Amino acid sequence: MSLSGILKSTIKKPLEFTAARFGAHRRKGENRLWILMYHRILPKTDSRYTTEEPGMIVEPDTFRQHLQQLKALFTVVSLSDWVDRQQAGKSLPSHACAITFDDGWADNYQYAYPIIQQEQVPATLFAVSDMIGTNLSFWPNRLARLLNNATFNQLEQLPWLSSTIGKSGAMKGNSNLPVKTQLEPALLASIVNSFKTFPDSQLIQWLTEAEHMLSIAAKDSPDLVSWQQLQAMSDSGLVEIGSHTSNHFRLQQSLVANAMESEIIDSKQRLQDRLNKQVNLFCYPNGDTCSAALKTVAQHYKAAVTTQRGINSSTNFRANQLMRIGMHQDVSGTNTQFQARLANWY
Ligand SMILES: [Zn+2]
Repeated sequence: MSLSGILKSTIKKPLEFTAARFGAHRRKGENRLWILMYHRILPKTDSRYTTEEPGMIVEPDTFRQHLQQLKALFTVVSLSDWVDRQQAGKSLPSHACAITFDDGWADNYQYAYPIIQQEQVPATLFAVSDMIGTNLSFWPNRLARLLNNATFNQLEQLPWLSSTIGKSGAMKGNSNLPVKTQLEPALLASIVNSFKTFPDSQLIQWLTEAEHMLSIAAKDSPDLVSWQQLQAMSDSGLVEIGSHTSNHFRLQQSLVANAMESEIIDSKQRLQDRLNKQVNLFCYPNGDTCSAALKTVAQHYKAAVTTQRGINSSTNFRANQLMRIGMHQDVSGTNTQFQARLANWY
């Protein structure tokens, strides 16, 4: 083991324990708001588990334990209610925690929603309005599917692909065999990351052409919830639906003004029309934002969440750039790990 490995393994455990016992989530006297960020809730036995990046998943049993821990340590609040109270100058719980889900995955309805109902905790789900009820997938999942269904030789015919990931080692060899499930999840995550330098519209165009050229059939089961499932969650009164844009385009400076406005404003309108409910909360795809996006979001939403890690305070409160703490299985599988994560110490 390397020196840093030894240091990590000897320091990490006590640090984790201390953070869990004495972190900010245990201290009294401040009106603070933790916002937890979840993506997918999947058991290991589900076939979707193996094709997803590990940073995206929490297992259902772990999620249930999280909720039980949160109920013991915090006042679990609806994000909307907390923001309303803060903005009206009303009293706030000293330790509040809000639960959020990004993207609107079908597994949220299947695995998370029943647990939310059993535990009776409020949550917010950020949906991508123009992808709900379709068989469309996000580009990282389409990229993973392409890599797993094409042969090395076929992939080498796609210059945009081979020039970007050729260096990563994922395309070593010169075989007619499909790449299939050979991609390590960590490698997949790093490949996805290297493509984030391209605009979403460009990536979608490349992937559409490649899927067509390689005759990769449309998916037979949707990745995301249907409108009926979204409506059922919204009608329960436990799950508030927020907007996560129309097409999950990252709101960067390079996005043209029309597209920016459409992603922020039209998504809200579409969700409101379909669900017959006000949509007041927004979530920036990939956490990316720019001054134009911040301005438009502030004009149309009560509050918005980022992927910036941190704990929000009622005294230093930025409604349109709320910080969150991301949860995934690797960092929250035990109660000690979960509480250390809440302490925001690592
Ligand atoms: Zn997202």
